[in-house]
Amino acid sequence: LHVSATPIPGDLDGHRYVVSIFHDVTDERRHRDELASFAGIVAHDLLNPLTTVQGWSETVVELLADAPEHPAVAATSDGVTRIRRAATRMRALIDDLLAYTLARDSALAATDVDLREVVSDIVVARIDQAYSGNRPAPRFDLGALDPVRGDRVLLRQLLDNLISNAIKYTAPGVTPEIRIASTLLGDGAVCVEITDNGIGIPAGHHDSIFDNFHRAHRSAPYSGTGLGLGICKRIVERHGGTLTVRDNRDGPGSTFAFTLPAAHAAARNPVGGVHAR
Ligand code: ADP
Repeated sequence: LHVSATPIPGDLDGHRYVVSIFHDVTDERRHRDELASFAGIVAHDLLNPLTTVQGWSETVVELLADAPEHPAVAATSDGVTRIRRAATRMRALIDDLLAYTLARDSALAATDVDLREVVSDIVVARIDQAYSGNRPAPRFDLGALDPVRGDRVLLRQLLDNLISNAIKYTAPGVTPEIRIASTLLGDGAVCVEITDNGIGIPAGHHDSIFDNFHRAHRSAPYSGTGLGLGICKRIVERHGGTLTVRDNRDGPGSTFAFTLPAAHAAARNPVGGVHAR
């Protein structure tokens, strides 16, 4: 049982009263346990063997590359490369399905969240990832980022999905330039905007990209599962907000905007600078 008690101000006939609410959380708790065991099954029974397939196929690809003159190489390298790609796709799908389940069903653990801290972590990780993959490092311009009220794990997932899309959907060879800033709205909400200089959303796809498995760019080099924005939408809606996209007016690319409740102890962060290495 969850129990809350609120004293009624003043007294009545010389007595003081309290309103107590008893909330039966048995079903919620059972549901959460079921979800945790489902996530455990996915993580253990699917991810572990898949990690073995991924690891060994990568090792074999490297070994084959070291011995190109061996007669067995031509016959096997194409097959092994396909196995590796299939394992990578499967991994992305399992990760996204798991994230979608958690975004949809897990209990929200709401606290005040310092968005600047969350965004900075993601920014550093994404710049490192670009360097290790020999791709142009994205440039980030961080404006004011107001603290919000929400589930830190889910909000990190939301921002990571939107930032990774902003980087991914950029024309090859172009340096991704991403601005992230928020505005404090009058009604106790914060609006966060992520603006990219990417390839943009084709006409007619602005609503459907939020549907599960809908992909507006399907040709190489843009790979994905089509689940990321469905996860984002679900996370924002669970916080009582909305997620939208619009084309940039004064240049290429798109702006994704979402609203979240402002933090209870709202203190605005100073404006940040341009992050690049
Ligand atoms: P995924 O990236 O795995 O395909 P998402 O659900 O994250 O799936 O995105 C759905 C589709 O929306 C993408 O396939 C892409 O066509 C489009 N999209 C998402 N973000 C952007 C962006 N920043 N710029 C251009 N297109 C985007």
